[in-house]
Amino acid sequence: MTSRTSDVQKILSEATHIFFDFDGPICDIFAGLPAPTVAATLRDYLAPLRLDLPGSITTETDPLEILRYAASAGPLVAATVEAGLRGLELQAALSAAPTPDAAEAIRHFHASGRRLAIVSNNSDAAVKVYTDRCALSGCFDLISARAVFQDPALLKPHPHLITQAVDGLDAAPARCVLIGDSITDIQGAQKAGVRSIGYANKPGKQDALAAAGADAVVTAMAQLIP
Ligand SMILES: [Mg+2]
Repeated sequence: MTSRTSDVQKILSEATHIFFDFDGPICDIFAGLPAPTVAATLRDYLAPLRLDLPGSITTETDPLEILRYAASAGPLVAATVEAGLRGLELQAALSAAPTPDAAEAIRHFHASGRRLAIVSNNSDAAVKVYTDRCALSGCFDLISARAVFQDPALLKPHPHLITQAVDGLDAAPARCVLIGDSITDIQGAQKAGVRSIGYANKPGKQDALAAAGADAVVTAMAQLIP
């Protein structure tokens, strides 16, 4: 079930700071360069190292899961995947598909005087390229995204990136709200003491995001605009 419009608007009206997850609420980063292709390319990059990859990694389609594995497999593996993924995400950002009405919502909240941030497990460079490409950079006060050689353990659901945005903008956590399409967004927000609105962009996500503890759930970014 989606939340009542009045509930969503109450949460937003009480927020001085609005944080957006990147892949989902803002764009589909892997629309033009599919995530399974990125994952397979990362395995190709690892081939010269002649590793005995765990079975789950040989079929993994989520590039971030390969990054997590690489971080545990030694500095050379970590560096190979980190550099490879960073380049592929940049390439993906150039063919990412905008989420319907996301730019309108972002521009609305920026014009309303709220301070905005992007909080993303994707690389900071990819986020920057996309927001520049879509002329949205000026709406955001801060990007808290995966840095070079960021420990993957500090990505969401860990609260690190969210808390980094709260602290970087000198905000009160209770006056911040994170809009995210994954359970890990909702979990990270809760750990950071920040409210959350789930963006259910696929069937079946509404109940999962609500069960994870989202303060409200919407199925379209347009529902965020009063
Ligand atoms: Mg997402």
